[in-house]
Amino acid sequence: MAKCSLCVDGIAEVHLTYAGLRLCPNCFKDFFVKRIKRTIERYRMINKGDVIGVAISGGKDSGSLLHSLRMIYPDAQIIALHINLGIRNYSEDCERKVRELTRMLDVDLLVYDLRKREGYTIEDFKMTRYGKKMCSVCGIIKRHVMNVMANEAGVDVLATGHNLDDMVEAMFSTLISGDLNQLIRLKPVLPSTHPKLKKKVKPLFKTPEVEDLLYAAYNDIPIREKSCKFSLTARSLIRKRMINNMAEGSHSFKYQLLSVFLDKLIPLIEEKKGKVVLRECKMCGYPSQDEICSRCKRVQALKSLYQSEGSAIK
Ligand code: SF4
Ligand code: ZN
Repeated sequence: MAKCSLCVDGIAEVHLTYAGLRLCPNCFKDFFVKRIKRTIERYRMINKGDVIGVAISGGKDSGSLLHSLRMIYPDAQIIALHINLGIRNYSEDCERKVRELTRMLDVDLLVYDLRKREGYTIEDFKMTRYGKKMCSVCGIIKRHVMNVMANEAGVDVLATGHNLDDMVEAMFSTLISGDLNQLIRLKPVLPSTHPKLKKKVKPLFKTPEVEDLLYAAYNDIPIREKSCKFSLTARSLIRKRMINNMAEGSHSFKYQLLSVFLDKLIPLIEEKKGKVVLRECKMCGYPSQDEICSRCKRVQALKSLYQSEGSAIK
């Protein structure tokens, strides 16, 4: 049995080919947290005294992020922000796991129940014209609600659990769609550009997805056991599989791609596009490039569908 490359006493269980390391569970956990700490410091993601909001879904990525941030900042005020999407056989499990984890870490938790707060669930969009792209609607609604929650909680910075694989997948997807504004949003640090938009950071953007799973398992982090029914057809999973095929045999393929993208491509796009002018959505008052934001367009579609039935949508 191979010995751990770092402590030498432990038995290696994790082989990190890109770093040439074989690590025992303890050294792996340490390596994982140190990388996040370095990333936060290098990109100036979090300042001393910041109230840190963490978007938490009940999955491995945000669970590992919350756990690591608690390890790095034992005395900071951290608030976990969770959205109950109202997806049957899924959302209850997510909320339960989030409650368990925040109790375990002694972190404050705010839950935004979509059905109670807004009168609809993500599932309801299935019947609208947006129903063919459920993950896209879900993403738009979640982004809006997270902005609302971050304001309500009064956080200084909002951390999300996007990992390396998510970043590379999103990069491909936005390149294909040609949506340059979306591309810019993939930056690891998005400063606040409007009083209603908090600074957003992605401390896991250099962390491979599989390592989030390992970290969660080694720390007994409660994570959801059920899958969202819409994930089976999610294009993002199909694209991730394609990217994994391309990356086979090359340890640093994803890192290289991401650094070219972040260091070379995004600055070029930003220079060419200039500053994006934001106005406020006529309906929700949140920043938008159009008169009505993407979230309100979708909620409107749902409202008109329910109008004849006496909608309870707020
Ligand atoms: Fe939302 Fe899609 Fe994730 Fe389901 S799989 S929670 S619809 S983003
Ligand atoms: Zn709006």
